[in-house]
Formats: sequence, C-alpha cells, structure tokens
Amino acid sequence: MNSPFDLNKQNQKVESKIVVALERISEAFRVLLWNESRENALSPIQIQILIFLLFHSQEKCKVSYLAQEFNMTKATVSDSVRILLKKGLIEKFDDPADTRSYIIGLTYTGKEIAEKSSNFAFAIEKPLSSLSKEQKAAMLSGLLKLIHELNRAGVITIQRMCFSCIHYQNNNEEHYCKLLQSKLATKELRVDCPEHEIL
Ligand code: SF4
Repeated sequence: MNSPFDLNKQNQKVESKIVVALERISEAFRVLLWNESRENALSPIQIQILIFLLFHSQEKCKVSYLAQEFNMTKATVSDSVRILLKKGLIEKFDDPADTRSYIIGLTYTGKEIAEKSSNFAFAIEKPLSSLSKEQKAAMLSGLLKLIHELNRAGVITIQRMCFSCIHYQNNNEEHYCKLLQSKLATKELRVDCPEHEIL
C-alpha cells in the first residue's frame, strides 16, 4: 500500500501529511464556496465564473479560457454561462479578435454578487495572518513549486505565476522579473499576475 491516506505510511512521511492537509483545506474551500453559492441560488462554478470575470482582463473572459482556467469542458462552462445570461448576471460582447467567439462581462447585478462572493475565502486567509513572515514566505514558496510541478505534469492547466512566466529569471536562487526590472523577494512572487506571459 503506497497511499498517503494509509495511516501507517502517512504518519512516517511528511509529504503524505502535507497531501492530507491540502485535501482538508480544499474541503474547506468546497464548503465555503458551496455556502456562498446556496445563498445566491447559483452553483459553485457559476460563482467562480462571476469572481473570475470581476478580476480579470477582457481577453481572458471567454468560454474557452474559462474552461482551461477551471479544468472543465467548454460544454460545461457554456451551460453555466447560459444560466448566468438568463439570470441577467452577465452579458455578451463581440470579440474584436475573433468573430466566432464572444467576450463575457458582468452586469450591474452580476458585479454586486461577484464583489460580495469574492470574500468567501476570508475564513481561510484570516488564520494565515497569525503566521510569522518567514512561515508565510516558506509556505508561499512551497505552494508555488507544487503548483508549478502539477502544471508541468498536466494535472492543472493555466497558470499565471512567476515560475511559468517568460519574464522570470532565477539568478542563484534570487528571483528576478525582467518586465518589472526588479528583484522579487519570495513574498513578492505572484500566483496570478496580470502581466504574466507563458514561457
Ligand atoms: S511579469 Fe508577473 S508573473 Fe512574470 S515574472 Fe514578472 S511578476 Fe512574475
């Protein structure tokens, strides 16, 4: 038996304990998001789409991009988009770059729900403030490496983080952004950067 959930193995291996801890945290996200969805009579993915539209630039607000972002099929995302349109929470615009595609934007009501719902993860952010600066930097660095490896292995798709960016340089373990022309301390590494360009 080689599972991280096998208690005999888990209790002797720190990697297995981290995997199980991450599973608990993903469960917390699931519960918090589910509560937020229920309050608004929407599904979790519909809430995630509204929040994504609120904080990302127009060229990313398309069905194909959303499908990659949330690791879902275009058909599943299209279903959610159809419901959000029907509820008057989003609207469609022509895509000047592609006549077969369209851009999605929030309506006034959609923006209000997205703004309120985007606070759903505060319960997870709050306890992190009690960690020391060093603990937070170590946690961020470890999580970024894990996300990067999962992306390289094809487990998760789109990433807009420094480690997968054309502008990122690692000079003897010092992080550097060629676009910002600046060194980046570990705490300044970005998970979702608007200037990110894929390697
Ligand atoms: S452009 Fe953004 S993602 Fe890319 S290296 Fe600079 S800060 Fe990181």
